[in-house]
Amino acid sequence: MSAAHTSGARPRIVVLGAGFGGLEVTALLAERLGEQVDVTLVDRREGFTFGFSKLDVMFGRASPAHVLHPYRDIVKPGVRVVRDEVRAIDPVRRRVTIDSGELDADILVLALGANLHPEETPGLLAGGYEFYTEPGAYAAGDAIAAFGGGRVVVGVTSTPFKCPPAPSETVLLTHDYLVSRGIRDRSSISLVMPLPSPVPPSPDASRALLTAFAERGIEWRPGCLVQALDPDRRVAVCADGTQIPYDLFLGVPTHRAPAVVLESGLTVDGWVPVDPLTLQTRFPGVYAVGDVTSVGTPKAGVFAERQAMVVAERIIASVQHAVPSAEYDGQGTCYVEFGAEQVARVDVTFRSGQSPSGMFESPSAELAADKAEFGASRARRWFGREWSPLPPNA
Ligand SMILES: Cc1cc2nc3c(=O)[nH]c(=O)nc-3n(C[C@H](O)[C@H](O)[C@H](O)COP(=O)(O)OP(=O)(O)OC[C@H]3O[C@@H](n4cnc5c(N)ncnc54)[C@H](O)[C@@H]3O)c2cc1C
Repeated sequence: MSAAHTSGARPRIVVLGAGFGGLEVTALLAERLGEQVDVTLVDRREGFTFGFSKLDVMFGRASPAHVLHPYRDIVKPGVRVVRDEVRAIDPVRRRVTIDSGELDADILVLALGANLHPEETPGLLAGGYEFYTEPGAYAAGDAIAAFGGGRVVVGVTSTPFKCPPAPSETVLLTHDYLVSRGIRDRSSISLVMPLPSPVPPSPDASRALLTAFAERGIEWRPGCLVQALDPDRRVAVCADGTQIPYDLFLGVPTHRAPAVVLESGLTVDGWVPVDPLTLQTRFPGVYAVGDVTSVGTPKAGVFAERQAMVVAERIIASVQHAVPSAEYDGQGTCYVEFGAEQVARVDVTFRSGQSPSGMFESPSAELAADKAEFGASRARRWFGREWSPLPPNA
């Protein structure tokens, strides 16, 4: 217990990163503790965008402005939002250096996500598009809009990567888009992945996706990690040397923990190890949640959010002088776009040392409505705004 806890001063909680994890920790602390704690939430960006919204913009279903949730909308008791760059993290002293100064924490929560490095795949930026960053997805959207037909290849350049179903969603949405433009019959679509199935933890989801690909004439090419693009010859080169010709390449780029985290001494093998039940790092008073960790669940917002709930519960208990008992259960619910305004649902649980188990619910319009409510409820809780992922008449 730090001096701030014992002296009666308000505990200082510093949350780094205002994505799925950081926003959920902050919302719960504000809701349950209000002014009893002093929460500082730091992010370099202007606002938050759901991962799935990138696909909505890419396929012309929403505008970039519609899907941006400005951090200035966060008005919560006990919470200060600071837009700044995190430059250094000292996990021993729980001191964070940002451009505008230093922040000392009694409890530090690391939720800085994964950074994306398309420049590390030779030829990717010169000869194709990555669709995992906002600018990348929006530029890919412009390219798709200007596409006159040909060979579309969606490929993965490195593992692990966020939201493992996203490449499968992308080929299904590409199919719909090309049909709507009347150029599907002049085009081919291939999904190239290093994995043996589209969503390995859920065989049922994988089967349903493979059926959907077959019904739409989408080629499935497992076992290929795209190592490079040759922009002059317009071929994607797999790690085993196989060459795949393309006219439009949409790629999942290399993921890495942010440099400031790699430099902090918190990582092992590139990611932050945590206790799989408590999400504590090996440094007292320092938690980590979400994509930045190696906790063993996929890198997805729903897992980051559930980890954040556990961390918030543990912080609340310690502030209230109770013994923290909340533990992470590895559960997550993912919505998967199947195109044709249908969404499926995968419930999956990851427990360390066990194979993942889960349930799959087939695509339907009802689940598309559930997914919209999933986004709307987070916008309400985190930002206090009424919002729907797809604007009317999208
Ligand atoms: C195309 C696509 C579709 C997706 N679809 C889904 C989906 O349907 N469901 C789902 O659950 N997940 C989905 N995801 C994944 C999801 O977006 C991420 O897994 C999730 O956002 C991770 O949450 P996080 O809190 O760990 O990190 P993030 O949400 O990435 O937040 C990290 C934050 O840290 C900030 N940051 C990083 N470094 C610094 C620094 N040095 N200084 C200041 N700020 C910094 C960043 O600006 C960012 O806001 C999708 C992702 C993509 C790309």
